[in-house]
Amino acid sequence: MKISELLGKTHRDNPSEVELISHKLMLRSAMIYQVGAGIYAYLPLAWTALRKIEEIIRQEMNSAGSQELRLSILQPKELWDTTGRTKAFGDDLFTLTDRKGRTLVVAPTHEEELTAIVKAHISSYRDLPKILYQIHTKFRDEPRSRGGLMRVREFDMKDAYSLDVSDKGLDSSYQKMVEAYKSIYKRCGLNVIQVEADSGAIGGKDSHEFVLLSDSGEDAIVLCEGCGYAANIEKARFARTDYSKEGESELAEVSTPQVTTINGLTDFLGIPNYKTIKTLCYVSRDELILVVIRGDLDVNEVKLKSAISAPEIRLASPKDIEKHGLSKGYISPVGINGFRVIADESLLLGNDFAAGGNKNEVHLINVNYPRDFKADLILDVAQATEGQYCTNCTNGKLEIRKGIEVGHVFKLGDSFSKSIGATFADESGSLQPVIMGCYGIGLGRLLAAAIEQHNDEDGIKFPVAIAPYQVHLIALNIEKTDISKLAEKVQSELTESGLEVLYDDRIESTGKKFKDADLMGMPIRIVVSLRNLKENVVEIKARDSEETLKVKYESVVETVKLLLDERDFYNLKG
Ligand code: ATP
Ligand code: MG
Repeated sequence: MKISELLGKTHRDNPSEVELISHKLMLRSAMIYQVGAGIYAYLPLAWTALRKIEEIIRQEMNSAGSQELRLSILQPKELWDTTGRTKAFGDDLFTLTDRKGRTLVVAPTHEEELTAIVKAHISSYRDLPKILYQIHTKFRDEPRSRGGLMRVREFDMKDAYSLDVSDKGLDSSYQKMVEAYKSIYKRCGLNVIQVEADSGAIGGKDSHEFVLLSDSGEDAIVLCEGCGYAANIEKARFARTDYSKEGESELAEVSTPQVTTINGLTDFLGIPNYKTIKTLCYVSRDELILVVIRGDLDVNEVKLKSAISAPEIRLASPKDIEKHGLSKGYISPVGINGFRVIADESLLLGNDFAAGGNKNEVHLINVNYPRDFKADLILDVAQATEGQYCTNCTNGKLEIRKGIEVGHVFKLGDSFSKSIGATFADESGSLQPVIMGCYGIGLGRLLAAAIEQHNDEDGIKFPVAIAPYQVHLIALNIEKTDISKLAEKVQSELTESGLEVLYDDRIESTGKKFKDADLMGMPIRIVVSLRNLKENVVEIKARDSEETLKVKYESVVETVKLLLDERDFYNLKG
């Protein structure tokens, strides 16, 4: 490809109000064009890279024994009502009305349709197991689209679905997908870790995310430096410090004028925050729930949501609190009835707590669980913080890093097959729900993440396997016939040997050509110039190295291949 013919011009300056490096670099190198909020067109360079990513994903899916199919984007809303996900997706769901007045969902994901197909085509245990996948566009009305391709409202995803007869079968399909994912990221040049994750709106059991650790990420990842435990903060377990002492003192009221916060209470009583109980009021499906936790910890709303299997929860407003006759700032579960109480495990690791007195300006001291109140559920609803200890190895300290989620795998179990009625006859002839898993990778986000990982102040440093072109050939003083002839010869030799070449044939300054090569980030740069012509050589430099090699014409192809091989993660695979 000649740069003179390529669509799109590079820009020297960073666009204003653009936050992510990948976004800046993709705009500056004319890879993407913004059509609207969270909507982008892929220009030729981005599309070439994305097609390479797509091909890597396709190869790894196929070699894991998965079959490619193609599902529809328009789907009847009734299908989504069957699984309750019209509500679960809420405002993120794009819908439209057809000429007959029927509502159609513009698919944000495809579990429903796939399960409907399973229902129609799978009838016996002999039809299983299977893994199916597609690479297709998804639509989500994201509340906060950001960062170029990182979070958009229209994006391509590889989504795969496994179908098994049992949980054991699912475990094995899941593991196959995990291995395929690891190969995909490795081949794309991404350093990705697998972390435990919450399964979110989709429901189900085990779930893992594949995450690129990066300061530009939106997810908080909890890591143990001791044993390697890694989890999204939405899910991360941690060891709570045990502050319990022998004996329980007598419950008593204290007058606490104007003390309405945990900090106020600890100051007033001169006690540490772990000697207090915090009570938060949440509303779920019109029910007011009391959530209690030791005062040194915070509630993690994602854990809380899954603990009570609620699609949505929110903190109660002062109005909700008043409506239920509670005294804001002085609430605790002690001595009141009629509310569901969810307690964090930390209440078992302390005693003689101070807590709200359920009267204005009154607190209680020496509150003990379960002596003074009962909880309907006691489990982990606390947020992990940096420096806490790991529960996995008990002596490692936890660290929190930011990360970009580039893939997600879920064990769905029978939730979709039960609601849609996708069953198979087992060996004894009785009908069982198909046991499912689902597996997603966003292609555009993967490309953006790869650029976040591979760049420097001059531009992109594409990993070989996903670079739009492997070689960036620059001809300096192109107006000289000798130069253009030689450059064209080098280009055709490289092309004939199977290499992909982006050829800068423009009449431009040397500075601009070098800057553009660095910005666009192809792995190998070749320079043909007058000075080199005299010495019968060309200059070859890898984008990720400072070293420039002077190579005789006849060795160009060989040298380029060697440099590419050294950098290709596919070759490092085995
Ligand atoms: P996130 O938490 O980032 O919104 P998600 O949990 O909604 O992601 P999934 O539904 O599991 O994502 O989708 C699978 C993959 O699709 C994600 O791992 C990510 O790579 C990609 N993806 C999801 N939402 C977007 C988006 N809005 N823009 C680009 N890629 C996305
Ligand atoms: Mg999402």
